[in-house]
Amino acid sequence: MAILKAFCGDITRLSVDAIVNAANSSLLGGGGVDGAIHRAAGPELLAECAAIGGCPTGEARLTRGYRLPAPHVIHTVGPVWHGGTHGEPVALAACYRNSLQLAQRHGLASLAFPCISTGVYAYPFAPAAALAVATVRQTLVDCPAIGEVTFCCFSAGDFEVYQRLLAADAESR
Ligand code: ADP
Repeated sequence: MAILKAFCGDITRLSVDAIVNAANSSLLGGGGVDGAIHRAAGPELLAECAAIGGCPTGEARLTRGYRLPAPHVIHTVGPVWHGGTHGEPVALAACYRNSLQLAQRHGLASLAFPCISTGVYAYPFAPAAALAVATVRQTLVDCPAIGEVTFCCFSAGDFEVYQRLLAADAESR
């Protein structure tokens, strides 16, 4: 049974097999966690991303991690929040599912996710976090290679939300 954890801090510091990037569909870098990952990885990451040629919302692409402690980065494109009736939950769940399935196919055993879409893309935090935990738990049933998933939070308030969700998840098992 895979371990689900919450961590509060900078995802670029984590030594896991892959960190997930909340990218935009160009994969050419941006602000927020995307900017932090590109700054920490160095210019080689942007060159590899440019060669991929973009990624649709909900899908995921794998690159190397270059100067990051994590040897790989999984780039996924979250939905922009437009009120919640434009397929946002389906697309956000697809980000988590496709990232995990990509990691599974490449034999990556530990992964860290940022809180996809909850920054500039404005997805409300609590429902995004609940969807993330439920989708990861459900997808891991078919991902035996993955032993540990970390939800990387960037504020104490976000971290508390995940701690509550993960306590409820542990109790239900
Ligand atoms: P999106 O466009 O998908 O909303 P953002 O980067 O704007 O992406 O925000 C996604 C989440 O990443 C937010 O919760 C934000 O607080 C968080 N974040 C920003 N920088 C970092 C970082 N260095 N490490 C981890 N999380 C971060």
